[in-house]
Amino acid sequence: MNAPVTPRTIRIHPDDNVAVVVNDGGLPAGTALPGGPTLVQAVPQGHKVALTDLPAGTAVRRYNVVIGHTAVDIPAGGWVNEQRLVMPEARSLQGLPAPQPPADLPPLEGHTFMGYRNADGSVGTRNLLAVTTTVQCVAGVLEFAVERIRKDLLPKYPNVDGVVGLTHSYGCGVAIDAPDAIIPIRTVRNLAMNPNFGGEVMVLSLGCEKLQPERLLPPGSIPISDERQGPDVVCLQDEKHVGFMSMIDSILTQAKTHLERLNARQRTTCPVSELVVGVQCGGSDAFSGVTANPAVGFATDLLVRAGATVMFSENTEVRDAVDQLTRRAATPEVADAIVRELGWYDAYLARGQADRSANTTPGNKKGGLSNIVEKAMGSIVKSGNGPIHGVIAPGEKVKQKGLIFAATPASDFICGTLQLAAGMNLHVFTTGRGTPYGLAECPVIKVATRNDLARRWHDLMDVNAGRIASGEASIDELGWELFHRMLAVASGEKTWAEKWGLHNDLVLFNPAPIT
Ligand code: CA
Repeated sequence: MNAPVTPRTIRIHPDDNVAVVVNDGGLPAGTALPGGPTLVQAVPQGHKVALTDLPAGTAVRRYNVVIGHTAVDIPAGGWVNEQRLVMPEARSLQGLPAPQPPADLPPLEGHTFMGYRNADGSVGTRNLLAVTTTVQCVAGVLEFAVERIRKDLLPKYPNVDGVVGLTHSYGCGVAIDAPDAIIPIRTVRNLAMNPNFGGEVMVLSLGCEKLQPERLLPPGSIPISDERQGPDVVCLQDEKHVGFMSMIDSILTQAKTHLERLNARQRTTCPVSELVVGVQCGGSDAFSGVTANPAVGFATDLLVRAGATVMFSENTEVRDAVDQLTRRAATPEVADAIVRELGWYDAYLARGQADRSANTTPGNKKGGLSNIVEKAMGSIVKSGNGPIHGVIAPGEKVKQKGLIFAATPASDFICGTLQLAAGMNLHVFTTGRGTPYGLAECPVIKVATRNDLARRWHDLMDVNAGRIASGEASIDELGWELFHRMLAVASGEKTWAEKWGLHNDLVLFNPAPIT
């Protein structure tokens, strides 16, 4: 016999006319909500309950934002789900509010981490050998070589954390001169320069591909401060190679010179301002915007106050909050750049006869997220409360501190890949439904939105923000906990995904034609 449960719901804003059921397993019909209506039907966990009668056509407010209008009469205590809600039109990109940015947050001092300083001034949180590729054709050879490097070479270089093959699907069979081809090309280029690779650039090329090494990395594109002349390129079609082992030996020989230099590096004390953090969510549920994302938002504010760079992304998940973003822009130029990026993305989606409603998955809906408006309002809180200082386009490198809108698709792997290209050295990822997401190039701290997920996935989730819903911790407490965990992980503490070696593929964003 289970102890009787205390019904718990969360209403984000006093003007909201729905609240979200918090209890594991949901609540049965007949449950009297404290200070609220009695449920007229069972409502699953994470789903919305009407707090007042909502006749058909009533605006449903969550986050004090209209997330839709009721399609049918819903009585107080009724279940408000995606089938009973009509999604509002997308906000026009014309006539958006002018910037009225909040004041810069007060500085936060006295926090450091142990990182690897690079010659170009960036700082790594890991010390990895990365091998860049110009084309997918070489992926199998590189995988073989990476395995040999791992087994035969890495034991001799104990200060090196690992070896990563930067394989991808680009490089040939693509319209490489199309205007949008700049996006995948600069992504591969900037990935090679991620701070976690120590400025050691090594390239594996096939020979006949469209993306030639000198096109990928033209002279001057690698900020090398010493006498080194450019990237080491191993070309498989080079006539000197006779037999497969000749190629592998060549890769291993080149790898050794990079491993020597990487192995000589030591972690040193670095200010938090050297962190470049990418925040993202995936497998979201209705708790994402109540627990994990607000805690991430609190930590975002702490990082920005300490002078760090924090990138938030995921175009389709911020699109419905565009008016909030332009209002928070630090300057009119930043507001214009936000509109430019989201306008470009609207056109990109329209070209494929899709719109923002293509976002939200069956799992999102099962988790209580009725539509993209509701998802967006919960997603954007990851960006905290400060002004937005800058904007970068997909695949660009971030060059400034503060809070940055890095425009990317919301797809977890594409967003992560583009944030890596931007120079991310630490990734924070929130999930409600649960995903084992991880990257080989950069540590990923995963934050669970619910106690039940944290309990079941205890050896996959790094932080449990579900404690906010159960009243065991406040958003501030969780935010500070996450901040300290970020500094520990940046200093070398392994995440669960690193302990298990869970790595997703790099996935490029290629809006240009394939040939
Ligand atoms: Ca995502």
